[in-house]
Parts: sequence; structure tokens; C-alpha cells
Amino acid sequence: MTTKIRTRFAPSPTGFLHIGGARTTLYNWLYARRHKGDFILRIEDTDEVRSTDDSVTAILDSVKWLGLDWDEGPKDGKTDTGPYSPYFQMQRVPVYRKYLDQLVAEGKAYRCYCTKDELDEFRRVAQLEKRPPRYPGKCRALSAAQRQELEAQGKKFSIRFKMPVDGATIVDDAIRGKVSFENNLQQDLVIWKTTDGPTYNFCCVIDDHLMGMTHVVRGDEHLSNTPSQIQIYYALGWTPPKFAHLSMILGPDGSKLSKRHGATSVLEYRDQGYLPHTMRNYLALLGWSNTESQQLFTDEDLISKFDLEGCQKSPATFDTVKLNWMNGEYIRQTPVKELIELAKPFLEKAGLWGAKGPALERVIALEHEKYKLLSEIPTLIEFFYKPVVFDPKAFEKVLKAPGAKDVLLGLADALQELTPFEEKPLEARIRQFVTEKGLKNGQVFHPIRVATTGRTEGPTLFLMLEIMGKDMVVSRLKDAAGKL
Ligand code: GLU
Repeated sequence: MTTKIRTRFAPSPTGFLHIGGARTTLYNWLYARRHKGDFILRIEDTDEVRSTDDSVTAILDSVKWLGLDWDEGPKDGKTDTGPYSPYFQMQRVPVYRKYLDQLVAEGKAYRCYCTKDELDEFRRVAQLEKRPPRYPGKCRALSAAQRQELEAQGKKFSIRFKMPVDGATIVDDAIRGKVSFENNLQQDLVIWKTTDGPTYNFCCVIDDHLMGMTHVVRGDEHLSNTPSQIQIYYALGWTPPKFAHLSMILGPDGSKLSKRHGATSVLEYRDQGYLPHTMRNYLALLGWSNTESQQLFTDEDLISKFDLEGCQKSPATFDTVKLNWMNGEYIRQTPVKELIELAKPFLEKAGLWGAKGPALERVIALEHEKYKLLSEIPTLIEFFYKPVVFDPKAFEKVLKAPGAKDVLLGLADALQELTPFEEKPLEARIRQFVTEKGLKNGQVFHPIRVATTGRTEGPTLFLMLEIMGKDMVVSRLKDAAGKL
């Protein structure tokens, strides 16, 4: 029987879910879905100072918005579901304490009484001597009597894991291959803090083991933690999972992606009007590719093709132009009814949801080809529902042109008589008007557009007029003429 694949996303709730975290979530999800395994969400809230409930909520909202469902983990900010519950690390402290006691009893971890000042000093000297700033092991070999004495003085202690002093730890990484770390360059990591709480590196190992993770796919900033984590597995008599460390994401200027490059939080992308499907597809390609260099994927396609072998070792560059292109593609592929649902928050915010006027479905369909972001939709269609706001330049140039007023009034009369008020008859009647008056197309088409929309650019003219309907068109032509 083969083992069921189990992957996880294990965020520390110390901020929003950023693009890198979203990609990690996606890859874990894709891998689990591809292999009919389980995808688990676990909240690593051991940093009591920086972890916040708001961050948990923002992360859960982000993962949900991305459309990545989890099989086990939080139901909301406090409760969870699954056979290994709880999935919030601070609710699991007794579990960690048990393994801590075991390591200490076996002499694989020790109490360290060094103060912050002493540790700072070690670091300073190491820096001066150009050595890695690792803990020099001062408390590693204290006797029971020495410990008692220090504790009698009221000294507080943390607990450090004893790294082997010689040899190397090999991380057999699914993306990077075998990476060797010399043990004598590794820290004796603090696994339990002076404040009497566990640390990330310790909890992560215990949970990944107890929760049956087969694969740990995460950002490469954690590669350097992995040798210590592997040694903790060994010390507890466990087999480590398979690791895969994803390459860094860079901004267009080649530096690590950050706020300077624009939005980094997933919810900002939501609020800017990207589709969840775009984000899934785009992020999948940010560090992974398949042999055919395919760009557009359905979810089924992605699930069936995603593998860790296709993940790149070198950094990936975030490219907003490609992201926008892809979003436009997916907006075009989305049926109008669905698009309206997706655009609902933007339409509501603009006061266009449920507004009196032409059917939203027809209006939105009119410029379906053009939208790159959902957030652009309200601006492009608002003149169907709100009083015309004239672009001052267009008003000056087009409506104040000689003869424009007569054109508007003449057209208002002509169109008042037109039935049916539909695209083809509208075109025929307006062209006839052009000929009758001996004008050029532009002398008529431009004033109509500006009078009815306030703008010089917009949807295809005659169909737009049909959708506006006779009453709106005629009254707008008259109103504009009245302003001249
Ligand atoms: N809690 C860690 C973080 O948010 C995750 C580390 C891991 O995936 O092992 O960076």
C-alpha cells in the first residue's frame, strides 16, 4: 500500500498572506490534489508577540478567496476540524512539552542560562572575527550542580537542542537535490523560550511528524532551518518528510519582491480586481513550468500536470504585465452572468448594483473584450446609470464645435421618431442624417457620443445607443444641447 500524500501550509499569523505564501499554499494544494492526498492548514502562532487574530482571519480569507480548500485545519480564527486537531500550535503546547521532556531526559537538549546581553556579545565578537554568529555552546556541558546553582540565583533558562558537532546533515530536496550542511556550522537552536513556550523549529518538526506529513513544500528562506529540523527528527527517532524549497520571488528590478514593487498581499490583488483563477494560474507559473511551456491552464489541467520536478531552483520574477494579460484572458473567458457576480463588490462600491437603468448583463457584455481588471468595470459603464459627467476637453472640442448644437437637436428629433430603436436602424438613420445635412461622419458621431456619455471613447456606438434606450438617448441629446 502506498502512503497517502499529505502536504500542508503552515503560516505564522504575523501579517497578511503575501504572494510568496500564496504560491506556497498553491503548490502544496496542487501536489495534494494531484496525488489524491490531503492538504492541511496549520497555524504556527508560537510568536506570542507578533501573532494576531486579525492576521489569522486575513490568511484564511486569502486562502479561501484563492479557492484553495483544505481538508483539515481551522474552520475560523479559533476552531478547527480534522483528526489531528488542534491545528493551532498554541493549543498544542502540552504535546510539545512531552517531547521536550523526552529530549532533555535523554541529554539531547539542555538548559541555557545565557542572558540576552551575553548572546548579543557572542554575536558581536563572532561578527568581528568574521565567524558565523552561532551560539558557542557555553551552557552545553553544565553539570547538574552548576545548573542548580544558577537556578538558585533565580536565573531564567531557555532550552537548546544539541546539534551534532561533527559530520554533515544532508537535505535531500525535491527541487534542489542533495544539499549538505556542516553540523559544526549550525546553531544549537532554542527549542523552548525563556518565556516558557516552544519555538517554531521545534513545533514544526513535531507537528509535521504527528500529522503525518509526507511532503514539506515551503519557501527557500526555510532551507537553512532544515538541517536542524532534520536532526530533531533523528533525535526523536523519526524519519523526516520529503522537503521541497521553492525559489525566491523577485520584483522586476531583481530585488526580493516587496512593497516597493506594488501590492504584495493577496487581498490587495482581490481588491484590485484580479480573478482567483488568474492568481492560481499565474502563481503556478511563478517558479514552475511544464515541458510544453503552456501558459493558460484550467484547474484540472494544473492539478494533472503540476509536479515538484518542474519547479525551478533559480528565483522567479513577478511580472505584472503578464498577470494583467492573463486576467484579461480569463475575464474574456468568463460568461457575463458569472462576471457580474465576480464584479459585484466593485459594482456595489460604485453604487451601480441594482441601479435603475439598462440591464447590467447587456451593458457589461458590451465591453467584455476590454476589461483587464474587475475594478475597471464600474468606471467603464457608470454613464449608463449615472448622470453624464462631461470630460471638459471633450465638451470644449466636440460639443462646442460649430454646428454641434444643431446636430444634437436635429438628431433628438430624428431619433424620437425611430422604431425599433435598435442597432441597425439606428445606424441607418444616423447615417442618413449625416447625408441629409451634408456633414462628415465625425461631425455627428462624436457629438452623439460625448452628449450621451460625456466621453470621447467608449463602446461601439449604435449598439450602445440601443442599450441606453430611446428615452435616455433623446433626453441626453437635448440636455447637452441645452448646455451650449
Ligand atoms: N510558519 C512558517 C512561516 O510562516 C512556515 C514554515 C514551514 O512551512 O515549515 O514562515
